[in-house]
Parts: sequence; structure tokens; C-alpha cells
Amino acid sequence: MNARFVLVETSHPGNIGAAARALRVMDWHELVLVRPHAFPHADATAMAAGADDVLEGARVCETLEEALAGTGVVFGTSARRRRLDWPEHNARGAAEFAAAGGEPVAFLFGRERTGLTNEELDACHYLLHIPTAADYGSLNLAQAVQIVAYELRMATLANPEPEPPAEPMPAHEDLARFYEHLESSLTDIGFLDPDNPRLLMRRLRRFFARSRPTALELNILRGILKAAQWPERDTAAWRRARDSRTRPRGGTISERDDQE
Ligand code: SAH
Repeated sequence: MNARFVLVETSHPGNIGAAARALRVMDWHELVLVRPHAFPHADATAMAAGADDVLEGARVCETLEEALAGTGVVFGTSARRRRLDWPEHNARGAAEFAAAGGEPVAFLFGRERTGLTNEELDACHYLLHIPTAADYGSLNLAQAVQIVAYELRMATLANPEPEPPAEPMPAHEDLARFYEHLESSLTDIGFLDPDNPRLLMRRLRRFFARSRPTALELNILRGILKAAQWPERDTAAWRRARDSRTRPRGGTISERDDQE
């Protein structure tokens, strides 16, 4: 299975090394670092304790978009429950879901002090919350990575050859483009207040994250958005095509057509 572990703005390089070890020991190899504070670093190498291949192979990215490109399902890990209910799994449920889906998957981990921002969680399909003591819910970053890596190993051992999805699913970047298009077209048609887009867009993202449109369905939705943005142009194209099929030879457009 194709699994990517993405750490966002990690402060302590030792945690990056410990995360590399946590992955390597469970036979996961793809570590991506978004704007790490210090990397490469001697503390990372020391904590990796021999998992040098994962550490040296770690890709450093400037943006989350770059880090998630090419993945299908994205899980955002969080020690806290969030304001707006987002579809949520625990580590075991997430791993079983990922192992059954046959799509490239990414797990996103946040900063040691503040976790992931709401905007970063917007890029995820699901929240992954590891259940903990109610009054102390925050694991060390590398330990959270270890739990997810272990559960993913167990789930892939139990389900080594998942069925690929019946229809192609969109990659992360296709979905990101769709959300941009959705936001701009809802603004164009006057539905979205550009000064206050956040909550509506978050709710819509949650809706689409839940319904998981296929690549084809996403194209249909984008076509609908285009037609809503430029109704004259699209209707004209549609009418022209219809008229060329139905217009009597040499005749004019019928009255009925004109009124439609
Ligand atoms: N105070 C931060 C805690 C960050 S802990 C917060 O409230 O979000 C650093 C990272 O470890 C988190 O961003 C998350 O990726 C992971 N993590 C820690 N505890 C977790 C838990 N109970 N469930 C899932 N991920 C957790």
C-alpha cells in the first residue's frame, strides 16, 4: 500500500528522527516534512537510530499542497475535537479504511505545540483522533506517528490485496482545484459573501469529503459550476447544438425554442 506520512512545521528535529524510526520499524518509508524548523539535524539522526534510509529519503516541502500532491485519501490527525464536526476515525478505523480502499493515502501530523490549523484540516477527508484520557489527550508527535504506523501495518497484513476503487478517484490536487472553482463560482453567482467565505466553504468541504465524489463526478460538478458562472455562453452552446439537430432545413428557430 502507498502510504505517506506528512509532518507539518515540526519544531524539534529529534521528533523527526523518532518519527522516521517509528515508520521504518513498521515498514513504511515515505516521510514528507512541510517547513521543518531544523532539518537535517544531528538530533534527528540520533533519534532515528538506524532508520537512516527513511530520514535521508524524507522530502522537504514548502507547502501542504505540494506535500499532498498525488495522494487520494487524506487523514488529519488531531488531539482535539474540532468546532465543526468532521468525519472522524480512530487510528484503527482509519487504518482499516485506508487498507481496504486501495488508494494512495496520506496521514497529516501537526505542530508539537499547536497541532494542525483549521485550514490544514480543511485539506483532509477525515479526522484521525487517537482516543486518550479525557483530561490529557495530547501524545508526543512521534508516538502518535507510531500508533498510526502500527495500526496501518496490522490492517495491511489483514488485507494485503485490496480491491482497487471501481472508478478512478480524484487526486488531492484535483479536489483542491474543485474547491477553488466552487468558491469562485459561488462568489460569481452571488451566493457566497467573499468577505466571509470560511464557514460555508468548510461545510461544503465536509459534505464533499463525506460523499467522496469520483473523478468523473467531480468533472460533472465542475461543468455545472461553469454553466452557472456563464449561463449565456453555455446555454447558447447548448441551444446551438440542439437547434442544428432540430431546425427544419432552411427554416428559422421555432417560436417555442425562442421562448425557452
Ligand atoms: N496541543 C496540540 C497537540 C499537538 S501534539 C493540539 O491540541 O492539537 C502534536 C501532534 O501529534 C498533533 O498535531 C497530532 O498530529 C499528533 N497527536 C497527538 N495526540 C494525538 C491524538 N490523541 N490523536 C491523534 N493525533 C495526535
